[in-house]
Amino acid sequence: MARSFTRRHGAPFVIIDGCIECGICERVCPYDAIFMSDELEFVVDGEKCPSCNRCLDPCPVGTIIPMDDQRAAQIRPSNRPFVFDGWQESVASDKLSAHQGGRK
Ligand code: SF4
Ligand code: SF4
Repeated sequence: MARSFTRRHGAPFVIIDGCIECGICERVCPYDAIFMSDELEFVVDGEKCPSCNRCLDPCPVGTIIPMDDQRAAQIRPSNRPFVFDGWQESVASDKLSAHQGGRK
């Protein structure tokens, strides 16, 4: 695995299509986990983000999305290198586990 991320704090976040690059999230993030990529798009570094949630409400267009939310499928290509490999499978696995857990 090229990159790893520990989900001990919950789901990390991605920025999806619709972001207007206002930069508010970068300014409010206390962990320096959001930055402007080479593609001039803001990115969440999944390895730095402990899911403190402080960037969510300030985002004026609601484009910072937990990876376990279906809208995360709209992740921008610029964000992909900064989430751990196989995150889509992990999300699917988590949902299956939660579903099965609820039935037991
Ligand atoms: S959830 Fe917290 S740590 Fe993660 S990007 Fe947002 S403000 Fe930064
Ligand atoms: S606050 Fe929202 S719209 Fe602004 S740069 Fe961050 S993700 Fe994009």
